[in-house]
Amino acid sequence: MQTCVLHSDLIYIEGATNSSRKDSRVHKMFETGLFILAHQIGNFRFYPTYKKLIKNQWKTFSDLKKEQEAQLKRMIYYSYNEVPYYNKLFKNLSLKPQDIRNINDLEKLPILTKDTIKKNWEDFKPANLKKMEFYEQNTGGSTGMPFKYRLYKFDRFLNAALWYRGWGYAGYELGDRTIFMGGSSLGIDARSYFIKIFHERVRNIRMLSSFDMDEVNMKNYVQTINRFKPRYIYGYASSLYFFAKWIEDYAINIHSPNAIISTAEKLFPEMREKIESVFETDLYDTYGLNDGGVSAYECSEHAGLHIDMERSVMEVIDKDGHQLDEGEGRILATSLHNYAMPFIRYDTGDIGHIISENCRCDRGYRLLKNVTGRQQEMLLTPEGKYVHGEFFTHIFWEINGVKEFQVLQKTLNKIVIKIVPENDFDDKQLVQISEYIRKRSKGWDVEFNLINNIERSVAGKYKFVINELER
Ligand SMILES: [Zn+2]
Repeated sequence: MQTCVLHSDLIYIEGATNSSRKDSRVHKMFETGLFILAHQIGNFRFYPTYKKLIKNQWKTFSDLKKEQEAQLKRMIYYSYNEVPYYNKLFKNLSLKPQDIRNINDLEKLPILTKDTIKKNWEDFKPANLKKMEFYEQNTGGSTGMPFKYRLYKFDRFLNAALWYRGWGYAGYELGDRTIFMGGSSLGIDARSYFIKIFHERVRNIRMLSSFDMDEVNMKNYVQTINRFKPRYIYGYASSLYFFAKWIEDYAINIHSPNAIISTAEKLFPEMREKIESVFETDLYDTYGLNDGGVSAYECSEHAGLHIDMERSVMEVIDKDGHQLDEGEGRILATSLHNYAMPFIRYDTGDIGHIISENCRCDRGYRLLKNVTGRQQEMLLTPEGKYVHGEFFTHIFWEINGVKEFQVLQKTLNKIVIKIVPENDFDDKQLVQISEYIRKRSKGWDVEFNLINNIERSVAGKYKFVINELER
């Protein structure tokens, strides 16, 4: 009798599993379809580009390099012919576009700093700019004042296609349920409520802000994750780490995704360990810089990050400016598709360690063993809310007349903001900055110091945001 009941239960469960499997397959097809459609509406070249990139990953390094150099030559000719800055630069150096035939030849050109771009802003405007579609973006990275630059429309979609391929190294498929945990550079926090919801639904993602990490919000984040059951969690390294520690401290049950993908900041080994153990899954690190177009993604061998070659040229250079095949140095970026504002040998401000060994996964791309230079800190409000440092970087994207800035948390209640002003800076901007900050915390006492310059570390870098509470 009992056997029979068991048997019928089994049949019932088996039947339900089959139909729910079918249901979930249909559901997945719907999610993938909607996801692709949403991107295709943005740019019809998105999906074919993605498919091509997926195939590319198994090409040999030398084949990929040939294609990369062919595109580099096109970009050099374009820059020479259409962008006044490069036309003048080549003439001053007595160079012709045909003198740059391959990646080694890039060494004939100087390193492009953010300062040079700002000083020559108008000269970076291509003659044919009116004929093209582009976005205005803000630079990221860890050094120099952020500034606005132009990003050619297709280039942005190429970036997205590279994202998804890179996540694919961790098993991601288009339209998979994904949680985003971060700030403005992931498109979080800057949109209106309805736009946010729309983006979340069509892309099958849920966005959790790194700017509001208090007890109440973090409990909500846990609920969202446990209900949504994402296959992937993608976020700022420091936010993921912070969240993981909090989950562990309170011994909270959390859904374990297929993988966690970290971005935007230096991931230290102890951060990786903590995030992996709390979420009981593998972590994949990524590196990307939209303004330079460089990107790199970790594969399941976890031996480093594969450097993409389709959107840009990444050079790692020694202190004399020579390209390295192996070793640590500054990362330079040359965009291959940003026709709205080409950067050639753009100094990213980041330091990378490149290795020449091939990866066991057989992908052709070179490996970055690690990237240093991007570190962000979290600040704590008297109300008990943790605010990711990028919140302040974001404020200074909106404010004019600031050459450099640095935010220091001295005590729980006290924030000191050092500002190197430009001529057009006045009290109005100070009021505006204070208002932005008050929206996050009413309890912070904010002191402004207007100064002539901000001290650099030995490496010539400075941090935008420093939390002195924990020191
Ligand atoms: Zn690999």
